[in-house]
Amino acid sequence: MDALNKLTEYFREFPGIGPRQARRFAYFLLTKSPSFADELARLVVEIKKSMRVCDSCFRFYAGKSGTVCNICSNTERNHSELMIVARDVDLETIEKSGTYNGMYFVLGGTVPILEKSPETRVRSRELLKRVDGKTDKNHLKEIILSLSATPEGEHTEEIIRALLKPIAEKNSIKITVLGRGLSTGAELEYSDADTIKNALKNRA
Ligand SMILES: [Zn+2]
Repeated sequence: MDALNKLTEYFREFPGIGPRQARRFAYFLLTKSPSFADELARLVVEIKKSMRVCDSCFRFYAGKSGTVCNICSNTERNHSELMIVARDVDLETIEKSGTYNGMYFVLGGTVPILEKSPETRVRSRELLKRVDGKTDKNHLKEIILSLSATPEGEHTEEIIRALLKPIAEKNSIKITVLGRGLSTGAELEYSDADTIKNALKNRA
């Protein structure tokens, strides 16, 4: 396979990218200057080296030392609230809205409706460990399920709720979900600050 075809195959693995778009990306690169391609290649290598996964919330962050990110280590934030999101981009959307000051947990994906082994799709073991964390001196009071208002998001929400129910009851932790100011079918990632603010305010 030549480089053009190989590159197309790589782009096809990107989320939401079909074969035709992948091909367009590959051709687009051919129209750009050599320095553009060099910089792109350098950045691809660079993010793999400079970004790490936080041991507590599992988001990617740029860090050289320590095991938790700047959100998890921030003592100004409310450590008694834990918001569960599917992906890093969802966390970023919530952070940008400036309406939430608690902690996060990134599931790493969602669970497809017919999936028989949900634990292969999301970080369920890590989540249980995080919620049961006896070392967390700021005791958890609330877990906010913040998944997209899509069928897969809602399915994931049900699975996570069932997973957390026993441990939440044992430790008197309230489980809430974002209010459906998020319209049906809406991806959290694309929600604006006002929508998120309302959804948080109307959580139940
Ligand atoms: Zn973190």
